[in-house]
Amino acid sequence: MNKNKILELLKTVNYPGFSRDIVSFGMVDDISLDGNSIEIRLKITTQNEEKKTAVIDSVNQVIEKTNSFKNINVTVQDGTPSAPQPQAPQSPEQQPAAPLDGVKHIIAVASGKGGVGKSTVAANLAISIKKSGHSVGLLDLDIYGPSLPIILGIQEQPELTQERKLVPLEHLGMKIMSFGFISGNQTPVIWRGPLVSRMTEQFFRDVEWGELDYLILDLPPGTGDVQLTLTQKLKIDGVIIVTTPQDIALADVRKGADMFKKVHTPVLGVIENMSGLFIKGNVDKGSNVTIEGNDLVVDSDGQFSIRIDLFKRGGGQSESDRLNVPLLGEIPIAQEIMEATDAGEPITSKNPEAHVSKIYQSISEKVLNALN
Ligand code: ADP
Repeated sequence: MNKNKILELLKTVNYPGFSRDIVSFGMVDDISLDGNSIEIRLKITTQNEEKKTAVIDSVNQVIEKTNSFKNINVTVQDGTPSAPQPQAPQSPEQQPAAPLDGVKHIIAVASGKGGVGKSTVAANLAISIKKSGHSVGLLDLDIYGPSLPIILGIQEQPELTQERKLVPLEHLGMKIMSFGFISGNQTPVIWRGPLVSRMTEQFFRDVEWGELDYLILDLPPGTGDVQLTLTQKLKIDGVIIVTTPQDIALADVRKGADMFKKVHTPVLGVIENMSGLFIKGNVDKGSNVTIEGNDLVVDSDGQFSIRIDLFKRGGGQSESDRLNVPLLGEIPIAQEIMEATDAGEPITSKNPEAHVSKIYQSISEKVLNALN
């Protein structure tokens, strides 16, 4: 156990009544380790003794669970007047979120975990909205693993204006900005929580967006500091949650959706990505085809299509029912999506007539309808 590990554990302790943890509130003043003894000093500016006691109890519990220390000593200092005072100003519910100058609507694309296709959805939605005749910006806020530079095949560096604002890159008729343009695709970025929050806030305010109808945010996966900063500081019109059909992904989605509800950011709907794999082909008349457990549809010309649910079916539907929000669409696993994305031109741009491009288009129409 080292200090960083302890700090990670303390990030699981939320300040009572808030969906934000004591580390990101800056309440952990000091951690000292000495053999099997640990001392944690907290700095909390509140007159509410119950809240202090609740924090101390929770901290004790997470440290005890490690079974690494015999002596655990958690103390609270009152903090200086300049120390964070979570009661009022930092409450996500109370802090007014500000819009971005010149940007009419902000839509965030979120997911509970990585690898579900969130960035692919964000890029294809942005292109589809652009195709409907709107001016669109796309902002990749994934500080840990920015993927827009790869998905869009962009390798340029943005320029700075005289006012030291970042000029977004023009690509496929949209304005694009990504952490990846600055940090470089290969650079592993290890940012600590509060630093990420500051960095993110700085980042979206310091881009010269100009006039935009829609700004699409590609959020990092999960419900960490970046999402909190955004929902607290930026007026987001709605969030789209991307999931895959498996239970494990859905459990993560639930956490994300609950967080957005708590901070009153409307959840516009759920997209089930990698929803079934379709195999198409032809059969001769009169031949027998049996595929157990999968849907087989044969049309009058003998063309068939089989839907194989590699994962459980219907997760997106059940989750959207639970959240009482629409299921915006189901996007199948499609080689063409992956090939287009990995080659740097999303399928909606490369082949707008493809079946899957039409699914993205229909989702984007539902999103725009929900907003207007
Ligand atoms: P995330 O942003 O959630 O981490 P990405 O959008 O980067 O996920 O997608 C991860 C990988 O999955 C990429 O290689 C992408 O091309 C692929 N992918 C995403 N959606 C699909 C899909 N519907 N069918 C096939 N491959 C997909």
